Amino acid sequence: MSDTRNADTDGGTDATTGTDAERFEAVVVGAGPGGAAAAAVLADNGVETLVLERGVEAGSKNVSGGLIYAGKSAAYTADDLFPGFREEATERPVTRNYMDNVAGDEVHTIDLKRVHEHDTAWVDSVLRRRMDSWLAERVHERTAEAGGGLLTDVRVNGLLWEDGEAVGVTCDKLDPIRADVVIAADGVNSELARAAGLMDWEEPDEWFQGVKAVVDVEPDVIADRFDVAEDEGVARLFGGDLFDGVRGGGFLYTNRDSLSIGTVFHLDSLAEERAEPHELLDGLLTHPHLGQWLPDEYSEREYSAKLVPDSKKVAHGSPHRDRMLLVGDAAGQMQAQGPIIKGMNHAVNAGGLAAEAYVEAKSRNAPHSAGELYASKLREEGVMDELRPTRYEVTRRLSESDAVTNVLDSVARSSVGRFGLRATGGLAARLFNSPFVLGMIPDTRTSYVTVPTVLAEELGERATGANDADPPTLEERIGELTYDTDVGNPHIELVDESFEASGVAVTACPVSAEGFGGGCYREETVRVNGGEERVVSLDTQPCVECGTCAVVADTEWTHPRGGKGVAFDEG
Ligand SMILES: Cc1cc2nc3c(=O)[nH]c(=O)nc-3n(C[C@H](O)[C@H](O)[C@H](O)COP(=O)(O)OP(=O)(O)OC[C@H]3O[C@@H](n4cnc5c(N)ncnc54)[C@H](O)[C@@H]3O)c2cc1C
Ligand code: SF4
Repeated sequence: MSDTRNADTDGGTDATTGTDAERFEAVVVGAGPGGAAAAAVLADNGVETLVLERGVEAGSKNVSGGLIYAGKSAAYTADDLFPGFREEATERPVTRNYMDNVAGDEVHTIDLKRVHEHDTAWVDSVLRRRMDSWLAERVHERTAEAGGGLLTDVRVNGLLWEDGEAVGVTCDKLDPIRADVVIAADGVNSELARAAGLMDWEEPDEWFQGVKAVVDVEPDVIADRFDVAEDEGVARLFGGDLFDGVRGGGFLYTNRDSLSIGTVFHLDSLAEERAEPHELLDGLLTHPHLGQWLPDEYSEREYSAKLVPDSKKVAHGSPHRDRMLLVGDAAGQMQAQGPIIKGMNHAVNAGGLAAEAYVEAKSRNAPHSAGELYASKLREEGVMDELRPTRYEVTRRLSESDAVTNVLDSVARSSVGRFGLRATGGLAARLFNSPFVLGMIPDTRTSYVTVPTVLAEELGERATGANDADPPTLEERIGELTYDTDVGNPHIELVDESFEASGVAVTACPVSAEGFGGGCYREETVRVNGGEERVVSLDTQPCVECGTCAVVADTEWTHPRGGKGVAFDEG
């Protein structure tokens, strides 16, 4: 295949058999970091590889915080696979990382140096549209040399089945495609993982929701406010009582000429508290502590949101079926332990390992064994231990119950607990900085809210200075996003519109809010049989395709057809 970058036909394909199917040796679905890494390794080994990406451009559908780590012990890193990556595709090397525990205006800061540098070759901040489209250029060149290429604007809508075996993929815009191996790198809302019965997304406690603002800042203002040179960057993480008791935290990362500021919350907590994600983000943006870093004129370039899987609960131990291998978020490989979030590095590593497994299996004349080989590589390389630490399983069983959380919260807040935290403040900092301890921290209010709050109350200093930031309203944020609406083809259908089944989507959807008429979900009272009923309605026009309502509401959820829907400029 020569230069076939954009699929420009419209319409759908419902093929479910192998007839009339095109054939490639390998098909990679998704051009995020996982898909890019897999395709590069396949192409470099002479495998004819077709990459299919649903966005108008790679990265246009993607969001991350985002710090990309390169693990010293990882088999594959972005700069090894893609020469020039750090110079051309990333924002700044991030050399400093701090955790700010907040209680009211009191702030207690911990230097996260040890955990930031643990098994780390380098860390850079990134914006996804720029990073992913740069990767896609390289991937296209390399796959084209091996007889394939990369096509954007194409959504893979299912698997091609033959005698009960998945043997390829079906797409909205192309004929079905058969392949010896399918690498599904289609991200957190993977339709392929679901189609193969390998993953679902029913349980809110298995997911985080991330919401982010990219704020415009001149490089000299970044240098001045963060005390960094042009080739240095800073990460700051925020926890404590900032977020109305919702379990999670905030982040701030310096880019070349902008700041990425956002929040990541456990989806079950967000849903239970009926919290509005955009308001929690605003709470962070307008906190007095943030004033010292924000520019005099607050100007937001982009508002975005996405789900991420919690690898501690969902990383798939054996992510393959038939000739399909899942990598990255599609396999639940997103490591969130304490304040550290690592997904892109794992996606790159897993993409490389999956491709390597196929190449090795093929050389042994047993391509069908690629999935088993990939799963054993994930175990042998220590990836599964990082994603699902055994010690977490143990502490989780002991500590993740309301009764235990209530007891631990009471102890931490008692005078004895406070005295202990005051006396051992240095120990608390060491615990936050220990990769071992982070790997077993329970996902409870005590870890995310209570201990950081008490630390700030007992050891913090008052944030001085003013924060005059005036973030845009939700309506203004939605108005600034770019959409290509697919009139007549809604990609989400509300199966049960009753408030009981789907009402939580009104608050949890990052572009909807109670009492706000311009978002995706709205609550209404309608007359039925002489009585009244509370129902919700859905309009997908402003949808940022985060996937939240697929988990918290009763919907039929798919991605929009290729190229349709939202396109992020930053990500
Ligand atoms: C707010 C937030 C903060 C985060 N912070 C960090 C961080 O600081 N560091 C970090 O490492 N990670 C972070 N992550 C997680 C990180 O973004 C993911 O773990 C990572 O992007 C996963 O890479 P991937 O290649 O598996 O999937 P993705 O990057 O999601 O890529 C999947 C690709 O597949 C495409 N696709 C999906 N379905 C189809 C289909 N049916 N057909 C064709 N194409 C399809 C998508 O358009 C997309 O391009 C964060 C995430 C969020 C939301
Ligand atoms: S409608 Fe659903 S997928 Fe779209 S932004 Fe809202 S919660 Fe996310």
